[in-house]
Amino acid sequence: MPKSLSRMSRNYAGEFEGYRVVTWLNRNKGGAKAKCVLRVLDLLPKYRRAVAPWIAKGISGVTGPEMALLEKLGRALWAELGRWPVYLCLDADSIEWAKMPKFTYARADSAGVALLNMIRLFEQGLIHRVRRCLKCKKWFYARFRHQQFCSTRCQQSHYRSSEEWKAYRREWMRQYRRLTP
Ligand SMILES: [Zn+2]
Repeated sequence: MPKSLSRMSRNYAGEFEGYRVVTWLNRNKGGAKAKCVLRVLDLLPKYRRAVAPWIAKGISGVTGPEMALLEKLGRALWAELGRWPVYLCLDADSIEWAKMPKFTYARADSAGVALLNMIRLFEQGLIHRVRRCLKCKKWFYARFRHQQFCSTRCQQSHYRSSEEWKAYRREWMRQYRRLTP
């Protein structure tokens, strides 16, 4: 188990699943599997929003266009998920297996595990917390609703650079006004 995972607090909902999803996304860039996982990641929050009227109003309250959207997204999602074979196994990472150093198990396809954890997040209403850092573009799991950066370092560096940018703009405008009659 990576050290960062064993040190991680599990107090935040979905963080365990989120960690596994973002680790996979950061390690697997490009390639057919990564593209499929990214398509599912794009579809899941849309599907969640599309299913909201059904949950709120019941099936009889869903309008024609709402149902059409739901069906369209559902078809796209099942087509993506249908590519993956399913087999049943215990998720060894949910056992504290760091304490069992000799314990090994047959690994499921890592993309399949990432998808499984994405579905777990979807079911908890937390799939939109899998995000890309605004600064470094790395995938991260947002512990908080409005979190946009993977780390305090990226956040500070982003605001510092935008402060520098604003200062530069101010100076430029000042010069420009001086030159313009
Ligand atoms: Zn970052």
